[in-house]
Amino acid sequence: MIISPLKPALLVRLDDIAENMNWKIMNKCEDLFLKYNIKPILGVVPNNQDPSFLSFPKEENFWKKIKDWQNQGWEISMHGYSHIYENDTLKKDYFSIGGKSEFFGKNLNEQTSKIKKGLKIFSEKKIKIRSFFAPNHTYDKNTFLALKKCGITQVIDGYGIKPYSELGIKFIPQLFYKLILLPFGVQCTQIHLNNWDEKNFNDFENFIRKNKNYIVTYDFVLRNYSAGFFVKIINKIIKTLLIIIRKL
Ligand SMILES: [Zn+2]
Repeated sequence: MIISPLKPALLVRLDDIAENMNWKIMNKCEDLFLKYNIKPILGVVPNNQDPSFLSFPKEENFWKKIKDWQNQGWEISMHGYSHIYENDTLKKDYFSIGGKSEFFGKNLNEQTSKIKKGLKIFSEKKIKIRSFFAPNHTYDKNTFLALKKCGITQVIDGYGIKPYSELGIKFIPQLFYKLILLPFGVQCTQIHLNNWDEKNFNDFENFIRKNKNYIVTYDFVLRNYSAGFFVKIINKIIKTLLIIIRKL
């Protein structure tokens, strides 16, 4: 793929991948990704306790599937630990998203312990983890300190059109809830299959077919994109605008 500032790059990120989930649609997505040779980012919850996920059927071969997908070049990212929200951020979280959080407000030891326990599960299953994104995009500064203590320096969240570094973390921005492709920059989807029916899947299939030439791998983005001075300014403008829009 030719890297051009005028050509967008799209990462496909699926959230809430857990033993209990909407496997009917996930299996269809797997076929779709194989068909178009797409290597998505999967946000895996290592110790899922979220009751809304537990109402879905359990996949007994879950960890074998995850390992196979990692072997195929899919990015396996850690998406929280238990996916249970314990605190309300009152919009004081790092990205001013607001709402409930698994991590925000907990002390450094508590956050480190959660991340360590999650990483232990991945390690027992022989899955390598280098990236993280928190449930509901909610972090505080201790979350990033805890991640760094555990050796994780990549977070797939944040504002901007290209990856950037802050607080010793490389942020790979994620902007929109809907399937939108801006005509420039690196973008990342946010997909919750547990809320999907056949119609949502069909829309997604059309979106993939239409934009398949822009879809890149996580490794491709890490290798080829870093934020220069002007990108940092644009990232800041996007952050300010989105925070204002979300408050309206
Ligand atoms: Zn989630």
